[in-house]
Amino acid sequence: MQRVYNFAAGPAVMPEEALATAAKEMLCYGQTGMSVMEMSHRSKMYQEIFNETEALVRELMHVPDNYAVLFIQGGATGQFAGVAMNLLTGSGKADYVDSGNFAHGAFVEAQKYGSPRCVASSREEGYVRIPDLDPAAFDPQADYFYITTNNTIYGTKYASLPETGGVPLVADMSSNILSEPYDVGKFGLIFAGAQKNIGPAGFALTIVRRDLMGRAMAITPKVLDYKKLDEAGSMLNTPPTYAIYMAGLCLKWLKKQGGVESIAQVNREKAAWLYDAIDESRVFKGVAEKGSRSIMNVTFRTGDEDLDAEFVKSAAAAGLVNIKGHRSVGGMRASIYNAMPPEGVKALVEFMKKFEMEHR
Ligand SMILES: *Cc1c(COP(=O)(O)O)cnc(C)c1O
Repeated sequence: MQRVYNFAAGPAVMPEEALATAAKEMLCYGQTGMSVMEMSHRSKMYQEIFNETEALVRELMHVPDNYAVLFIQGGATGQFAGVAMNLLTGSGKADYVDSGNFAHGAFVEAQKYGSPRCVASSREEGYVRIPDLDPAAFDPQADYFYITTNNTIYGTKYASLPETGGVPLVADMSSNILSEPYDVGKFGLIFAGAQKNIGPAGFALTIVRRDLMGRAMAITPKVLDYKKLDEAGSMLNTPPTYAIYMAGLCLKWLKKQGGVESIAQVNREKAAWLYDAIDESRVFKGVAEKGSRSIMNVTFRTGDEDLDAEFVKSAAAAGLVNIKGHRSVGGMRASIYNAMPPEGVKALVEFMKKFEMEHR
């Protein structure tokens, strides 16, 4: 069977080249005579694979030396607790921006460990935009200020980062990490579940400024303690070895594309094609407000649920799969991460135009 264009929100499309390399190396990696899956995580060969993956993260994101790069199990959701247990330990206060379901979930999780506060929310508006932020309302005593840079379900993104002064900015970047340049030095901590724009599911990538480590709550599980993880090279116990290897293959591909700066141009172009098609359409309407539009998750609908369902179904029949919107939003969502080829987006735009001709 031919490969489809997979617009899933995550786990999501991966570079075909990375998958092909993994297939080639599946039974025997290099001269080891075994699969990467069968290697001890303590072996020299595996340590090289791990080191290369970490080095690629550092290189592609220009991570300054005073930041640790950690691979942690429990996904992005695990980091909702991890962030609070490690950082909510000064004043016990933190400002959270409620810009979507995942942001809300992080806020609720943090309540178990301290006194976070919701500083702004667009929940009442169905999260169709990033809420307005008033810096005068920010708590200067907060241990950190928490944002979700890209809201996967609604298709929204911060047009600019909040200025938080001396309060460390913490970001859930699960669905737009590596999609365009971010200055890591502006953040105290960045984390991302791997399965959207990094590689397969299996870990969260956490990039944390080293001076913020070493103040975890006593109850923090060892495997979520950033300082202990850093000291052990993310190997306090067996890491998700194969997922980290696969992520390395995906990052090598990204490097070959010219890195984050280059892929950002492609990403902006891909998103613009879709948004132009939506804005010119008489059938489709965008869900996210224009000033908050994501370049990774493009949400739209016809306004008629039956017609949405027909579109999703006929798109799938044409090899454009997983376009159904999240159940809480409905309509359609095209996730167009780094690995979605421009041809896939072009095919979707053409399909939308054809559908429109048939339905007006
Ligand atoms: C997918 C996603 C999550 C949840 O990721 P898990 O790894 O499944 O826990 C959290 N935040 C954002 C922004 C996401 O897109």
